[in-house]
Amino acid sequence: MRRLRIRVVGVVQGVGFRPFIANLARRLGLGGFVLNDPDGVLIEVEGERAEEFLARMLNEKPPLAIIYSYEVQELMPRGEREFRIERSRKGGAFRVWILPDIATCEECLEELFNPEDRRYRYPFINCTHCGPRFTIIKDLPYDRPNTTMAKFKMCPLCLAEYENPEDRRYHAQPNACPRCGPKVMLRYGEEYREGEEAIRRTEELIREGKIVAVKGLGGYHLIADARNDRALAELRRRKRRPYKPFAVMYPDVITLQRHVLLPEGAMDLLRSPQAPILILRRKPAADEELAPSVAPDSPYLGVFLPYTPLHHILLSDLGFPIVATSGNISDEPIEYREPEVFSRLEGIADAFLYHDRPIERHADDSVLIFTSSKPIPARRSRGYVPLPILAPTDVGEMLALGSHMNVTFAVSRGKEIILSQHFGDMDGLRVREMYVKNLRDFIRLYAVKPRAIAHDMHPDYFTTTLAHDLAEEWGLPTVAVQHHHAHMGALMLEYGITEEVIAFTWDGTGYGPDGTVWGGEVLVGDGRDFRRVATLYPFRLPGGERAVKEPWRIALALLFEAYDDIPDFPLPDVPETSLKAVIRMLERGNLSPITTSMGRLFDGIGALLGMVKVSTHQAEAPQRLEAAAWGSREPATLAPMPLIEREGLIYVDWRPLVREILARRLRGESVEDLAMGFHRVIVESFAPIREAYPNLRAVCGGGVFLNGILSPAMEERMGCLLPRLLPPTDGGLPAGQAWVASHLLRR
Ligand SMILES: [Zn+2]
Ligand SMILES: [Zn+2]
Ligand SMILES: [Zn+2]
Repeated sequence: MRRLRIRVVGVVQGVGFRPFIANLARRLGLGGFVLNDPDGVLIEVEGERAEEFLARMLNEKPPLAIIYSYEVQELMPRGEREFRIERSRKGGAFRVWILPDIATCEECLEELFNPEDRRYRYPFINCTHCGPRFTIIKDLPYDRPNTTMAKFKMCPLCLAEYENPEDRRYHAQPNACPRCGPKVMLRYGEEYREGEEAIRRTEELIREGKIVAVKGLGGYHLIADARNDRALAELRRRKRRPYKPFAVMYPDVITLQRHVLLPEGAMDLLRSPQAPILILRRKPAADEELAPSVAPDSPYLGVFLPYTPLHHILLSDLGFPIVATSGNISDEPIEYREPEVFSRLEGIADAFLYHDRPIERHADDSVLIFTSSKPIPARRSRGYVPLPILAPTDVGEMLALGSHMNVTFAVSRGKEIILSQHFGDMDGLRVREMYVKNLRDFIRLYAVKPRAIAHDMHPDYFTTTLAHDLAEEWGLPTVAVQHHHAHMGALMLEYGITEEVIAFTWDGTGYGPDGTVWGGEVLVGDGRDFRRVATLYPFRLPGGERAVKEPWRIALALLFEAYDDIPDFPLPDVPETSLKAVIRMLERGNLSPITTSMGRLFDGIGALLGMVKVSTHQAEAPQRLEAAAWGSREPATLAPMPLIEREGLIYVDWRPLVREILARRLRGESVEDLAMGFHRVIVESFAPIREAYPNLRAVCGGGVFLNGILSPAMEERMGCLLPRLLPPTDGGLPAGQAWVASHLLRR
């Protein structure tokens, strides 16, 4: 006979943890109690099988519960035989975790498609194990009046479920049914329909090749038949998105399996509560069965499965894959609110399928690249945000603001770093407004009192200005963190490393302390400090930002450095006058910042191989270069880049490589083979630098590592740790900033 007190810390509230504990204890014949308190969940169990209880609690916990830590204390038995769920204890600061939105669970799905069930085909079915969370919470604690469900009064049947500790819907805050809950509506020109009629009509429109804006969990999708090339070409025209691949949502796993290669674990991830988009390698059947406009020229396909009841109903009725892409105007944030959405997407969507459960804050779909043995997150948003990442050392209360691209922010307390959802690039006014609004909202929700605001070193970023403005408003210090140090920090905290590492930090743009644009850096350091041990041989960006949009300018800049006289090479469609103007720019060095960026080197090589002259979206040239490489039959063996040492810094000299690639291309060698050769020689050339630090662990950070060929090669050849939890892009940057800033403050 033993009595144990178990204190559980983690994501254990609002996930069905207490009913689970009560059931388990009763099955094992134990007495005692369970309750929620500010620290998490407190349990006392008494009986002969108390030990077994502990083991099974850890093994069998509800799918959404995450246990960060637990403590066990032995107490004197009291002869208690009954087990009860006690009232929550209040008081003190709540260490609460807001849950992400969760894909519809199996049990709800069964009810959804059961004609006998009272929620048959009800698009808002949910329970404690699934449904909206993050996108409906207005305030804490997480109770119905504090959500956007407040305006729906539960009917007696729903209320009975909600109040019954034995029920799957016990304290499921968004609980609803057709009698008392939200409903769907369709607007198509003058036409207006509700409920089942709205759904059936939407399906007709999709079959006819129309584009429908459909309200999901964290915002609107634009939806069209993935087999209908005319519909998709029209969607591309209206969205002004000529090339960037669309994601495809599948009605079932069988069709999906026919279209993409699934590494081990990929199917589980697709069907997980997070239900992200996975970028996978496509199979020939996808070319035959999907419209070419889904993902032109790409060896990959972004796929996902329905994750809300509404998606499940639509897809199961349609029976064919649909394109489901973010409902926004190019470069604008995702739309999530009526009535603005109607006017903003008017020129893009033919019809709107929406509902009356408001979205409190947006969350885009999350995206992971899964083209080798393990996935790399490209965008961490719906399903993952706002679960905290645990740092290896105490960060304290902090706010960190990211950079300028793929922007997110982070708030922290103790060792927990909570990274926000994805916002996109900070150029537009609306993105900025949404960013500031959400940031203030997070600070309020989590009741965080930051001791400092961390930001990028770049003096002109919007986020830098914002950091200073907020710091003044709140009377706080600011901490500038070097861009690539923050990338390195993000990897270190992801892997819980505190000692020195060697970090390959490769991206498009990061402000260097010397005022140049960094991005092909090898750093050695830790949370406190770093030194730059190697970089790319520098080159110019003729026209600055314009060079980023027009990679042919970078190709020219590479040739300018690599040759005394720039040789003739085919650059179709670039007018002679533009070429001359750029060469003049390079000669004078005006409007041409110096860079060591790996992303830009990929841009330049991509243009040199004729992949892309002008980019229509971020990282288009590198993506096309990677796509070409997959088509390689006999990868070109290229000579590794020589290393030049100057004042203690190693320059990886790409100039001979550029000369070799151009010469071999002019000789008629295949672009695909050269593209693959280029990927390989990058890894080979940097290997000696890694080998000079055999005792350090190596990490890779920066957007360049979204590459499905480069990253696995870095892992294999150099034993590099790759980003698995946080995106390697600037989307993961604030986590690194917060962690590094906590070290800088200590200094
Ligand atoms: Zn459910
Ligand atoms: Zn009801
Ligand atoms: Zn970066």
